[in-house]
Amino acid sequence: MDQKTAMQTNESTTQCSGQYDTTRDPCVLCCCKHLAQAHVLIKETHKDYPHHKWIAMGHMAEAEDEVLNAHKAMASAIRVARLQYQNDDIEPDCCLLIDAVIQADEELAAKMLEEMNIKR
Ligand SMILES: [Zn+2]
Repeated sequence: MDQKTAMQTNESTTQCSGQYDTTRDPCVLCCCKHLAQAHVLIKETHKDYPHHKWIAMGHMAEAEDEVLNAHKAMASAIRVARLQYQNDDIEPDCCLLIDAVIQADEELAAKMLEEMNIKR
């Protein structure tokens, strides 16, 4: 399955459309996924991969975009954390951010997990 076909098969559910534009539907789970990825990459910066800081910041920027249209305050909090990391090397607590995202949209997160048959 190519990437375009994969994107189209997701469009009928509350899962993300996979389309990268400013009007895309918010996706709490993708936001958490990007924050989790950033968490792992930040840990790797302490090993032999200091350049993973930049990839982590990219994932944080994606996390912001995922909730921008539904939770502006949450998107703003992630942005502030990303800029502190970028400019002052203050490492974000991505686990704390994930908890906050889930709390910000408990209902949507639960619905998405239910659709995917994932028990919490
Ligand atoms: Zn998604």
